Amino acid sequence: MSKDRLLEVLERWEPVIGLEIHTELTSTRTKMFCGCEVAFGGEPNTRVCPVCLGMPGALPVPNQYAIEQTVLAGLATECTIAPHSLFHRKQYFYPDMPKDYQISQYDQPFCEDGQILVEVDGGGVAQRLDVADGTGVTPAEDGSYTARIGITRIHLEEDTGKMVHVGGSEGRLAGATKSLVDFNRAGTPLIELVSEPDIRTPEEARRFAQKLRLIWLSLGISDCSMEEGSMRVDGNISLRKRGTVEFGVKAEVKNMNSFKSLHDALVYEILRQAELLDSGGTVVQETRHWDVGAKRTSALRSKEAAHDYRYFPEPDMTPFEFSEEFIDGIRQRLPELPDAKKIRFMATWGLPVHDATVLTSDLEMAEFFEAAVTIGGAERAKPIANLMLNDLAAHLNAAGISVTASKVVPAMVDELVALVEEGTISGKQAKDVFTEMAETGDAPGAIVEIRGLKQVSDTGAIEAVVDRIIAENPDKVEGYRSGRTGLMGFFVGQVMREMGGQANPAVVNEVLGRRLSS
Ligand code: ADP
Ligand code: ZN
Ligand code: MG
Repeated sequence: MSKDRLLEVLERWEPVIGLEIHTELTSTRTKMFCGCEVAFGGEPNTRVCPVCLGMPGALPVPNQYAIEQTVLAGLATECTIAPHSLFHRKQYFYPDMPKDYQISQYDQPFCEDGQILVEVDGGGVAQRLDVADGTGVTPAEDGSYTARIGITRIHLEEDTGKMVHVGGSEGRLAGATKSLVDFNRAGTPLIELVSEPDIRTPEEARRFAQKLRLIWLSLGISDCSMEEGSMRVDGNISLRKRGTVEFGVKAEVKNMNSFKSLHDALVYEILRQAELLDSGGTVVQETRHWDVGAKRTSALRSKEAAHDYRYFPEPDMTPFEFSEEFIDGIRQRLPELPDAKKIRFMATWGLPVHDATVLTSDLEMAEFFEAAVTIGGAERAKPIANLMLNDLAAHLNAAGISVTASKVVPAMVDELVALVEEGTISGKQAKDVFTEMAETGDAPGAIVEIRGLKQVSDTGAIEAVVDRIIAENPDKVEGYRSGRTGLMGFFVGQVMREMGGQANPAVVNEVLGRRLSS
């Protein structure tokens, strides 16, 4: 795929994207309508009972905690919580769904009409171009902007079981000789969030999904593991001629198990649909499958319409009437959300917006940062943030671990920053100390001691070396004094070499400047 081709297409065609995101409420102990345990994997068909196996006569008992967590999710995304709501039966046949219907919600879901704000960096194909329907944004000078993405609804339903295809390649149906079904997952509480078609670029879609994951993680409602399938994103996308308002026919892309896949699949669809439309063809409304290996989407099935599901109110459960007190009680449980945390990091710790954004985009990093600045104080916030965003982030990335799994703890980062601040070691030495402390888990002070890394800031000691160098290089001194100020670099280099790189560069510069001009 060429970027130029994409840019050229985007000049004429505007993508319209809406996401449907399923998240298992893995924080619940038990399933949605029975007492079976919620967990991942395990010996197949061991966490099942007549209810989640859909046996005749078994009756569902709704999981109150799961309902509360759904309301919490709605409040965190600025939804209105419906005073009246109910479950519906959605009929369809799927071998991993033993009842042949799913208990879901239809026209009266728990949460409706929310929004989240999505920050996008400026530049390139990430850019939302001007749009005709009033959803345009005003980018900052660097091209970054915030897009408001509406949330249509969040409803609660039960997850299906899982098919395991054996004998084929990599669990795909093609070539499989046997299909087995594991009902351990069947009945796991699952929330589905549907966004408005407010998203305009694949980058916005990625940021939306990432932001949502961060909000869900802040709430603690799910582990949101895309690899284990506890968070699953489907993308709906259509194109319309730039400058027009009416939506085109959309395709829905499923099976994207990473944020990168979501982004890449949408880019692929933009190019595919543009080519179809440019050649006078039409987009077919259908569900498509993203093939990560081949990097393309392919048709999976034609899309069902709502009436195909024969939705009707679940007769085995009464509707829900949420009181103001019930909703307010859950509102009390709202933790600090990512946007609020970012603003607080800027206000309390004086961080620039970029640092605050990156640090709060990972809950563990944010917690680590706060622990370090609580020790070191607000004056150290910026150097601590710098160290975390550079050295620490690079280390975690290279080691492929999260900050809680690393040997580096907040007190060590604070101590290292203090060593530089006091002039005990140079910024350059700090890099080596960091590397060693990340490897060994030793405190930076101890590393400096053992390695004899102490930086020499003692003016007297530095003056002695400076005087000797000056005495040994009369020609260079004369050159410097007659205007070749570039020779300063030579002198600094000599002093540093003489002192084994341990002299404080600021003091060296100061002393040299003084001695050479006298
Ligand atoms: P369906 O009836 O096919 O399920 P919905 O109207 O329920 O479609 O919308 C499903 C998702 O598709 C939502 O996220 C919505 O924002 C998005 N969507 C709806 N129409 C379009 C369109 N023309 N182009 C892109 N996305 C769309
Ligand atoms: Zn069960
Ligand atoms: Mg729909």
